[in-house]
Amino acid sequence: MEPAGIYLHLPFCAARCSYCAFTTVTDHQGTREEYVQSLAEEIRSVARHGRSRGGVTLPPQHGRRISTVFLGGGTPSLLTHAQMEHVLGAIHDHFVLQEGAEVTLEANPETVTREAAGGWQALGVTRVSLGAQSFRDSVLRALGRRHDGKRIGVALKRVREAGIGQVSLDIIAGVQGDHLLDDLRRATELEPDHLSMYLLELDEEEVGGVTSLARQVQAGRAHAPDEDWFADVYPRAVEQLARAGLARYEISNFAGPGCQSQHNLRYWRCQDVLGFGVSSHSLVAGKRHGVTRDLAAYLAAARRREDPPLERDPSGLEERTAEVWILGLRLDAGVSVAEVVRRSGNRHASPPMKRLARVISAGLLVRQGDRLRLTPRGVLLSNEVFQAFLP
Ligand code: SF4
Repeated sequence: MEPAGIYLHLPFCAARCSYCAFTTVTDHQGTREEYVQSLAEEIRSVARHGRSRGGVTLPPQHGRRISTVFLGGGTPSLLTHAQMEHVLGAIHDHFVLQEGAEVTLEANPETVTREAAGGWQALGVTRVSLGAQSFRDSVLRALGRRHDGKRIGVALKRVREAGIGQVSLDIIAGVQGDHLLDDLRRATELEPDHLSMYLLELDEEEVGGVTSLARQVQAGRAHAPDEDWFADVYPRAVEQLARAGLARYEISNFAGPGCQSQHNLRYWRCQDVLGFGVSSHSLVAGKRHGVTRDLAAYLAAARRREDPPLERDPSGLEERTAEVWILGLRLDAGVSVAEVVRRSGNRHASPPMKRLARVISAGLLVRQGDRLRLTPRGVLLSNEVFQAFLP
């Protein structure tokens, strides 16, 4: 069996950022320890018994080889050393971590102390993904972040001094005007190994009032992110990052040589990932399922020693095939028909030729043998290209 990745969701934050629609809670002193115990138990249970609830069936995974682990959230760097040791210990007890496995921890800059970083390194963390977002203090305040611009450099230095091999920075664009290139300049001065750059998103559901930033936009007190501006600045951002040694390998992700996120590559290549914890998602043998987003329901099930409420992805073969195409096309390397056939299990995986011909003749997509790739213009208009692959 192919090795898998493991994703652990830690849904705790010190405060909720104004743009955040993730599953996270801020009042967690009482529940964090119980959650960590439940998470370790969930890992043990899936390894020994697999899953069977809500139409999901997953065979036992005990002894499966694991090549990537990702602790995401939330703010997983809020876990104490003992709590992190407990959840990582559960993985070591029931799975086989391959030599050289990538173990990523998401961290907010203000949580990176010397002691914490040393502890992460001792527990086998190989990569820290820092939620920098911006170097402008006014932007950080508008986003509701708890660090200032200077703290990012301090955090990165501490991670390096602890001997953790790779550091990635997340940068958000589209908040309070046009300063992306300046943020990228300040980010690359710190010489990160990897950088993710996202346009702030306020989708319809969020604009309906889920996030406080969306409410401010609705009330006219903040600007909505400007997609046209982003399309204009994006090629210059890509060039600037390339000059600093960070090459684009996915629409929003840039890396130095050998520093691409192996865990996130699994998502774009639709390879197996076992998700644990509230609101986590799993993909095993081409089938997806998710764990409830409701923390109370998750903990209640754990107290009853039951599987957490699960949701099976009802997508049929055609939807799954489209997803494999769309995720694969996000990569600079593109994706081949053979890969889509293998990953989707659909022997007739080619998209409708008429629609394909339209995006190729519009200069958005190129074909090289049986491989398709977005052109630079196609990257900017990727949503238009992806439409051509929908059933
Ligand atoms: S730190 Fe991340 S998960 Fe937590 S509230 Fe902020 S954006 Fe959301």
